[in-house]
Amino acid sequence: MTIHTTRWPSGLHPVRGIMSVPELLVDDEGAVLIDTGFPGDLGRIRAAMTRAGIGPRDVRAILLTHGHIDHAGNAAALREWTGAPVHAHPLEQAHLDGVYPYSGLARVCGVLEAVARGVTGYRPARIDVPLADGDVLPFWGGLRVVHLPGHTLGHCGFLSLRHDLLFSGDLWVRFLLRTQLSPRIFTSAPERVVPSLRRARDLGARWIVPGHFDVADVRQLKFRFEELCAYVLRPRARRIV
Ligand SMILES: [Zn+2]
Ligand SMILES: [Zn+2]
Repeated sequence: MTIHTTRWPSGLHPVRGIMSVPELLVDDEGAVLIDTGFPGDLGRIRAAMTRAGIGPRDVRAILLTHGHIDHAGNAAALREWTGAPVHAHPLEQAHLDGVYPYSGLARVCGVLEAVARGVTGYRPARIDVPLADGDVLPFWGGLRVVHLPGHTLGHCGFLSLRHDLLFSGDLWVRFLLRTQLSPRIFTSAPERVVPSLRRARDLGARWIVPGHFDVADVRQLKFRFEELCAYVLRPRARRIV
């Protein structure tokens, strides 16, 4: 199901997946996918492509914010179907392969992913194009890679230079009517989340679209993000010695 609203920038087609929201980006030069959803989402992505008039050979690239199964679940299948290369930070290959050594609370994430891989017949994709912070990808008018580690070590956002819009992956989520930072059980390096949130805020993008959301309205998403930043990044009272 494509999420319909008049408020998305033109050419942005969010696809409501089972868990996450992959994005189909379309312009005159073709299409790009940001994330590929949970394994059962393949039909929804194909349907969204059909509705947007996009065939498999129109897809120029598959970009992954990170390698969790709810974002990379169809990367291998879409890579085969479209022939488009998979772009991700190299630190995400271990997640794609299901061998990332989770520790602490995030071990829960590892267990859930192992179960999901087992029941869905998940297949790992290879990263064809390794991404680094600052790379500008020649898609959709320019997408700048913004490394935002914490949720995973290679977690990246993509800043659309044409639309001044940051795709922020799982840095923060709007889920079940709650706006929150990446939950601890899904976070590999919790101490890196707040610096990444500060960096994302300081980019000052006009729009921000996370990898999970329940409000199909970019203005609401920006408002919720700013509220979260105001709370998490608020100046602390100085201790008087
Ligand atoms: Zn994730
Ligand atoms: Zn996610």
